[in-house]
Amino acid sequence: MRYIEPMAKLIEHFRALPGIGSKTAVRLAYHILDMEPAQAKALAQAIIEAKEKIGFCSCCFNLSDTDPCAICTSPRFMCSTSWSSSSGRTGG
Ligand SMILES: [Zn+2]
Repeated sequence: MRYIEPMAKLIEHFRALPGIGSKTAVRLAYHILDMEPAQAKALAQAIIEAKEKIGFCSCCFNLSDTDPCAICTSPRFMCSTSWSSSSGRTGG
């Protein structure tokens, strides 16, 4: 089935996601069309924000919106890179 350009583009992007087949991609695209404009914009904005703000902590390599992450900057959970080089890791 041929879709108009904006719809085809939306389906193509959904189909590129992991676990999304052609039928699901079409269903999601129709769902987006059914959404209120504000809801669709909020979804688009959430994707943009996630991509812009989330990265990997340079200490623990977990996902974070700050670098180093809140855990690594917390005095209770000292980042491993700030450990003394002589002591190294203990236990495991
Ligand atoms: Zn961290």
